[in-house]
Amino acid sequence: MLVRGILHVIVACLVVVPAFFTTVFAADRPPNLVIIFADDLGYADLGCYGHPTIRTPNLDRMAAEGMRFTQFYSAGEVCTPSRAALMTGRLPIRSGMCSDNPRVLFPASAGGIPDSEVTLAEVLKDRGYATMCVGKWHLGHLPQYLPTKHGFDGYFGIPYSNDMKPTPLMRNEETIEQPAVQETLTPRYTEEAVRFIKDNRDKPFFLYFPHTYPHTPLHASDRYRGTSPRGLYGDVVEELDWSVGQVLQALRDLGLAENTLVFFTSDNGPWLIRGADGGSAGLLRDGKGSTWEGGMREPGIAWWPGRIKAGRVTTALGGTMDLFPTFIKLAGGEVPKDRVIDGVDMSPILFGTGPSNRHMHFYYRGARLMAVRKGPWKAHLMTQIGYGQKEADTHDPPLLFQVEQDPSERFDVAKEHPDVVADLLAEIERHKATIRPVKCQLTERLPGK
Ligand code: MG
Repeated sequence: MLVRGILHVIVACLVVVPAFFTTVFAADRPPNLVIIFADDLGYADLGCYGHPTIRTPNLDRMAAEGMRFTQFYSAGEVCTPSRAALMTGRLPIRSGMCSDNPRVLFPASAGGIPDSEVTLAEVLKDRGYATMCVGKWHLGHLPQYLPTKHGFDGYFGIPYSNDMKPTPLMRNEETIEQPAVQETLTPRYTEEAVRFIKDNRDKPFFLYFPHTYPHTPLHASDRYRGTSPRGLYGDVVEELDWSVGQVLQALRDLGLAENTLVFFTSDNGPWLIRGADGGSAGLLRDGKGSTWEGGMREPGIAWWPGRIKAGRVTTALGGTMDLFPTFIKLAGGEVPKDRVIDGVDMSPILFGTGPSNRHMHFYYRGARLMAVRKGPWKAHLMTQIGYGQKEADTHDPPLLFQVEQDPSERFDVAKEHPDVVADLLAEIERHKATIRPVKCQLTERLPGK
């Protein structure tokens, strides 16, 4: 009886186990990974984030079919540090990709993303992914800093901001147009992105799609110019929305939607000093360039039909640096173990399997730590509006806001909560102890420039 029972189990294992592994591995082609990154888009500039007149049906649908974050943070208050953090999963202070002056890389800059950094594209490429960057890079325009030297098989886009003249348009390492014809950028980027998806339908791919807009100067194509009730800014955002729709539709048409995670967010808040050409952070305070919430809290939309439950809105904390470990894990890779990684795996939030691994957010302006958030509490050591205020205001004791009750940061409650202030100050000390001096990449200039 016993022998027969054991034989039964052995036979069952021989049949079931191989079948199980075949099924798992067949379904286990790692997912395609896509990041669509807007430039200077505010927290409140999309229909699904409450904008009354900017029409974004494709992003609204993406959110309805996926997950929308209401407390999602970029790791930089301006372009260059924010992108460095996204690509490395590390605060820009660790890679030297931030400074107080200049705040971003310029055409006269000699620096860029150091070779010693491990980019998301490099890890995914090592895992056998096809990798492509379409759009604005802004991590160094000299040959050694271009996307093709940091993990991307191909590149099509502008190497820095579109207000830095004359802006070149590049393919891989060659300038193919200068100045770039700016009103054609969004449609041409979109065409490139869709072609890359089609060309790589049979293998895992990573598409990094950092748009040029709505960074100023604003340019929309003929099809969109003059069409939005929100004016030119609306035209530009509605064209971005069209572009997102094209990418998602290509994935659906090719039967790849169920095996592709797409994440949409923005590099920093709205550029408020641009007036009507700048966006809106809604009820959040200030915008681009500042460590008030409007400078760093962004729209965040995750889409993966069949894996991420449709129609979810989460108040869990998340951040752009979290895409690094999350994507690497989904690709079956490992995050580098020889360095501090500030991003945390956000799979529990995306797939509804547990609480958020993110409890804190550190707000840097250039190289200065200005504020920290832990849970619902945010303490400001210093405050400075994004543009137009020469010196920061120092706060000792810090200002304290409960940002879930007071998202506009209006009511300083430090006096009522000395224990919370003390706890956040202790967190700051622990954090500072992990920071090592590195060479600043933003301050060096090309000879004669
Ligand atoms: Mg930006």
